[in-house]
Amino acid sequence: MRMPTTTHCDILIVGGGLVGCATAWHLSRLGFKVLLAERGHLNSGASGQNAGSLHFQIERRFLEQGEKAAADGARIVSLNRLAIEEWKGIEEMLGRPLDVAMHGGLMVAETEAEMDLLAFKVARENELGLPTRVLNGTQLHHKAPALSPNLAGAAWLEDEGHANPRILVDAFADGARGQGAVVQTGTALAGLSMQRDRTYRATLQGLDGEVTANTPRVLLAAGHWVPRLAGLLGLNVPLYPAPLMMSVTDRTEPVLPYLIQHVGRRLSMKQTEDGNLLIGGGWPSRLAKRADGTPDLDRPAIVELANLRANLEVAARVMPGLAERSLLRTWTGTTCISADQLPIVGEVAAAPGLFVAAGGSLFTLGPVLARLLARTIAEGATPEELTMFTPRRFAHLDAFAVLP
Ligand SMILES: Cc1cc2nc3c(=O)[nH]c(=O)nc-3n(C[C@H](O)[C@H](O)[C@H](O)COP(=O)(O)OP(=O)(O)OC[C@H]3O[C@@H](n4cnc5c(N)ncnc54)[C@H](O)[C@@H]3O)c2cc1C
Repeated sequence: MRMPTTTHCDILIVGGGLVGCATAWHLSRLGFKVLLAERGHLNSGASGQNAGSLHFQIERRFLEQGEKAAADGARIVSLNRLAIEEWKGIEEMLGRPLDVAMHGGLMVAETEAEMDLLAFKVARENELGLPTRVLNGTQLHHKAPALSPNLAGAAWLEDEGHANPRILVDAFADGARGQGAVVQTGTALAGLSMQRDRTYRATLQGLDGEVTANTPRVLLAAGHWVPRLAGLLGLNVPLYPAPLMMSVTDRTEPVLPYLIQHVGRRLSMKQTEDGNLLIGGGWPSRLAKRADGTPDLDRPAIVELANLRANLEVAARVMPGLAERSLLRTWTGTTCISADQLPIVGEVAAAPGLFVAAGGSLFTLGPVLARLLARTIAEGATPEELTMFTPRRFAHLDAFAVLP
């Protein structure tokens, strides 16, 4: 559909990944006139490239950075508990199958030191109401015979699992359209300014030319491009690109009903509905570079062979049968992390009406964060569960911003 050259909406959402489309779904359901602009096609960013893990145990990336980071990571547990409920109801909410499989998750350990770390983590999670428990090597082998008998043990959480990242975003986008949202692909936010009356004027560039959108609210849900877009207003959002890799094997009979992670090494593993084994866990790939040597965020990242080998070695050590499988494909995707590793979600202090939502494990957390963010936008008050993610914790970075 061709858009008029000037348009008005209650909210402009920039980015057609999981966060943008899920928030569009909730806000259109609440009666908001939503315009979502995606510069490429829907799900073309991290939301379509990820591992599809639904992990609710405290992530290894928090545990490996010492006690302060582990304490920060623990703060996310209350949100993880809400996310479990969100995922349990998501297929019914969106009215279609999304390959959600929540048969449980194991975070494995190979050494006694890693078992100690698991015990520390599980104690903290239990205090916060997450019912993880430690399994010793024998119990683990009994539960997951496809894993190596040499593993020392694991932390078990019954509700972990995975879902299909290739179909979720379309489900939210189709639902949002059905509720009246305009979802415009091939349309990039190219300019953004705040007017004297504190509304926003956005320039959108698409195949049909340029459109000006006037709106009281803008949500930047553009993943690792959020800092660039906030920069259009002279604002600073401390998110940093994290290029990663994923691999998939050929199909095999069902051997792995659980999500597998590793407390001491980067590893995630799962078996899809079709029988393929997906292997990842946060091994870095390499950002492409422009001719002048600066990172090029607009081109796919490049597979880092040494890391691919290391990823597969850990995977095969944890699940020896993997050595018999063929690798079908390895791909890269770029996500982003914030300065304190927690997502940044909410209204920007220096720019009322401007919201951001990005950073962290937003496949697992995207649906619940979108629900909470939509409430924040609709009610003008931040729900308790979102307060720790507020962009206000970085407000000092905008001390020199010049806005009307
Ligand atoms: C390899 C990999 C594995 C991962 N595994 C997991 C996992 O197992 N579990 C988990 O919870 N998380 C995982 N993640 C993280 C997760 O994928 C992301 O946190 C999540 O998808 C972010 O969604 P998003 O909507 O914020 O961003 P994206 O999906 O990146 O969407 C942003 C969109 O904004 C668009 N855009 C950018 N600039 C503009 C512009 N100027 N105008 C209009 N549109 C624009 C882009 O084209 C893109 O479509 C993984 C990430 C990667 C890369």
